[in-house]
Amino acid sequence: MDIKRNILLNPGPATTTDTVKLAQVVPDICPREREFAGRMAQLRGDLVRVVHGDPEQYTAVLFCGSGTLCMDVCLNSLLPEGKKALIVHNGAYSARAADICQAYHLPHIDLELPYDRPADLTIVETTLRENPNIALVYATHNETGTGLLNPIREMGALTHQYGAIFVTDTTSTYAMRPIDIEAENIDFCMASAQKGLMAVTGLSFIIGRRDVIEASRDYPRRSYYANLYRQYDYFERTGEMEFTPPVQTVYAAIQAMKEYWNEGETAKWARHSRAFAAIHTGLESLGFQELISREWQAGLVAAVRCPDDPRWDFDRIHDLCYAQGFTIYPGKVGTADTFRLCALGAIDVPDIQDFFQVFRDALETCGVAIPVQYR
Ligand SMILES: *Cc1c(COP(=O)(O)O)cnc(C)c1O
Repeated sequence: MDIKRNILLNPGPATTTDTVKLAQVVPDICPREREFAGRMAQLRGDLVRVVHGDPEQYTAVLFCGSGTLCMDVCLNSLLPEGKKALIVHNGAYSARAADICQAYHLPHIDLELPYDRPADLTIVETTLRENPNIALVYATHNETGTGLLNPIREMGALTHQYGAIFVTDTTSTYAMRPIDIEAENIDFCMASAQKGLMAVTGLSFIIGRRDVIEASRDYPRRSYYANLYRQYDYFERTGEMEFTPPVQTVYAAIQAMKEYWNEGETAKWARHSRAFAAIHTGLESLGFQELISREWQAGLVAAVRCPDDPRWDFDRIHDLCYAQGFTIYPGKVGTADTFRLCALGAIDVPDIQDFFQVFRDALETCGVAIPVQYR
């Protein structure tokens, strides 16, 4: 089978290998077969191994849905009655976490901080000190809207010092930027299959502490379908998801995991890093400015300022690139006018170089001045 290769520079779903795409084409199987449960058990173990977790202490719980489901599950399931969540809010994804708290009427503090720099640990600590009722601190590792990296190890340490659990959204770093769950002071992290793992959409997972999940059995059950203890317990007793899993997506994730181990953590991160460096080089050659200072970037998402040029037309430039097999993505910052180029997926430096040829041509077609101009 010959499948056209598109280069996705959006922040996931990412470009996949053909072997991952084709892994979805399998004989029909009822997911209640023992064979299928065995495959999920292996995958759950591997998901813990990716973040170097001790399988006695940490477990992975699978869900059918996109990454936001994991945010929802962690927040609705891990907060004891009468306690508060602290949302460290410095980007679009932590804003979403605060929205989730609102939707469930969870007592929470929405700690809104500037979007263009890492969360200020002093403010986080003051908030923890002044609010002894906080039982859960939530932060985003890589704020995918801007590409900003948060100091999760330090935030996790503070969180533990004040007796709370630390939940971090690693959806856009997991299986790319190396993570050691215990060393980073993470109690729960999460991701979905179509990002760092380079599999396909529809499967998401939470990785975290068994003892905390066990304790959460007695917490209020705020969602019928999306409860962490319930899904964990069902997996532990039967090896299955409580409700129908995304069968073919699981096969793709298993193949992607195989390819993850073959490539290796260090080599994979090196590949993403050199693709990201090539994005920086390409942007510089055209005069583009980025939103976040380089030293604060997570190394996967570049949020680029749109030039002040009347001929700049994101949609038209997108369409010209798309016609050549390259996808660029609009920004998600609020006030600043940006677009994004990301180094996720099964891509490497030559793909980025090819992209910049096409991108330059698109700018020229639109008559945008090069180097691009800012006021
Ligand atoms: C992609 C992403 C999510 C999940 O988004 P979905 O659209 O539900 O897949 C959550 N958090 C972060 C940081 C992400 O990058």
